[in-house]
Amino acid sequence: MFREVDLRSDTVTKPTPEMRRAMAEAVVGDDVYGEDPTINELQRRVAELLGKEQALFVASGTMGNLAAIMSHCWTRGQEILVGDESHIFLYEQGGVSQLGNVHVSALPTHEDGTFDLDVVRNKIRPHDPSMHEPHTGLICIENTHNRCGGRVLSLDYIKKICHLAHSHDIPVHLDGARIINASVSLGVPPSEIARECDSVSMCFSKGIGAPVGSIVAGTKEFITKVHRCRKVLGGALRQAGVLAAAALVGLESAPDRMKIDHERALKLAKAIFDLKSPLVTVDPSVVQSNMLILSFPSPNFTSQHFVERMGMVSDADEEKVIVRACAWSRNRVRLVLHSDLSQEDLHCAYRKIRSLSA
Ligand SMILES: *Cc1c(COP(=O)(O)O)cnc(C)c1O
Repeated sequence: MFREVDLRSDTVTKPTPEMRRAMAEAVVGDDVYGEDPTINELQRRVAELLGKEQALFVASGTMGNLAAIMSHCWTRGQEILVGDESHIFLYEQGGVSQLGNVHVSALPTHEDGTFDLDVVRNKIRPHDPSMHEPHTGLICIENTHNRCGGRVLSLDYIKKICHLAHSHDIPVHLDGARIINASVSLGVPPSEIARECDSVSMCFSKGIGAPVGSIVAGTKEFITKVHRCRKVLGGALRQAGVLAAAALVGLESAPDRMKIDHERALKLAKAIFDLKSPLVTVDPSVVQSNMLILSFPSPNFTSQHFVERMGMVSDADEEKVIVRACAWSRNRVRLVLHSDLSQEDLHCAYRKIRSLSA
């Protein structure tokens, strides 16, 4: 038997025994009639956690972002400003255009997940554009920022971009798939991060560790629209309380567990950095949550080589360990820490990286 250490994503976690018990025992009802008590409890709890009037459970983060964007951009001829490295722009199949009839204008993303505010200002198209142009209906930000390696947007930056948007009567949607990670990293409650944002989406299936589900939060009026959009996207579920039950369990311990993930990520980054390898390196100073981006300076040892070699065990290997990781680009690999990893898993992963680093 080989040990397998899965560092591809924080979505790979399995429901804990406590989650499975809660799922089995969940009190449920038909959520299309608003009668699932466990869903209602989850929505109430998360609305409070995020400091919003209401929240609505959705099947996935992709569905949550799409329903939120469709709700903000309710009439035809609108565009959103969204980062060119964002999940919405890169990994949601262009759903906002494909299904939502919303045009996309992509903003250049800095390495820390932010935009240049002057660029944003110049890209905004007013509510009364010439008849030739769409008008900007929404600005989207992401925190923590996935493609940027789990970087955390500062409260100051969020405030600035929200003020800019609001001064043009444009709302802001926060893709907070990992907002709890951001909250743990910044040491402030999630509601503080979401305060100036008009809507937020959050995933239960990432670091929170639940098997399925996401949520969108905002004003009561906004959530009424999201509710309508969720239906047309096929997301009106029935006895969904079995899913909400797992999310409630995950939420309870999430901040404490994520703190461990973050500490381990930084420790692993420092250990890899200290190898001073000519083949694989990482900058520990940019590790702010549960992710590390490794880089590969040599053209002879690319991210692809690394991922292949990490995923293999050869006869010469003293330790029989398979480490799964994501090639992020030709010279970058993303490693993600999560609650299903033991200390020993990480030691093994480190030793495997070390064995490939010379
Ligand atoms: C995972 C993720 C989502 C949503 O993904 P689903 O797989 O649809 O749940 C959205 N935004 C970010 C930043 C993510 O990491």
